[in-house]
Amino acid sequence: MSSLQIKNLRKSFGSVEVLKDINLEADSGEFVALVGPSGCGKSTLLSIIAGLESVSSGEVIIEDKVVNNEAPKDRDIAMVFQSYALYPTMTVRQNMTFGMECRNIDKATQDKTVERVANLLQIEPLLQRKPGQLSGGQRQRVAMGRALVRDPKLFLFDEPLSNLDAKLRVEMRSEIKKLHQRVGRTTVYVTHDQIEAMTLATRIAVMHQGVLQQYDTPKAIYETPANVFVAGFMGSPN
Ligand code: ADP
Ligand code: MG
Repeated sequence: MSSLQIKNLRKSFGSVEVLKDINLEADSGEFVALVGPSGCGKSTLLSIIAGLESVSSGEVIIEDKVVNNEAPKDRDIAMVFQSYALYPTMTVRQNMTFGMECRNIDKATQDKTVERVANLLQIEPLLQRKPGQLSGGQRQRVAMGRALVRDPKLFLFDEPLSNLDAKLRVEMRSEIKKLHQRVGRTTVYVTHDQIEAMTLATRIAVMHQGVLQQYDTPKAIYETPANVFVAGFMGSPN
């Protein structure tokens, strides 16, 4: 079953068209890496899927339902940003429970969910701390924890590892892979790191100047790039 479909999607800011007729679909449980140079439209596409930006034309379909007119909170999506966007005055536990409180989930269920996710991410010792008392890697884990407690249909990540140093990035990459294997939710993952895309994704979407250049498995992208841009971009890891 298709978990996510993007049909003939166009987006303009003023007179500038930044997404040009994007077509994309992801099966349930897939890990789609969205790659391309800075400014090619990756974050805009992710924001449109999340409902944080409107479309100019075209459709966003989640589990066979057109969601163009649904508010972000009604889309059953969790998004993890590059900046983590944790609430600085709340503890890690409060950061994780906040979304559940807003949805009136009972306290016992909240606690059980936090324990389970904290265990999965190995952040139990951090639950009473505030974001300011955490390292970059720990903040990243908490941001993922906050997304995981929601158990959404769709996970969206916008360059979640780009603020981490190289060593931690490699560690977190394999953790994200393990996590995806265990949780098994459909994921769209923006990165400008070709190796990250190659190692994590079931399919890679390569974008350039608002146009989807190729959408295929890592193997196919590597072995049979659709054009010179894809060959150059995916063939030269940074
Ligand atoms: P990426 O995430 O691939 O770096 P973005 O999706 O952030 O690219 O941006 C794509 C293009 O759209 C860029 O040229 C950017 O300047 C432009 N853009 C993004 N958001 C806005 C906005 N709110 N208003 C006007 N232009 C925007
Ligand atoms: Mg971006």
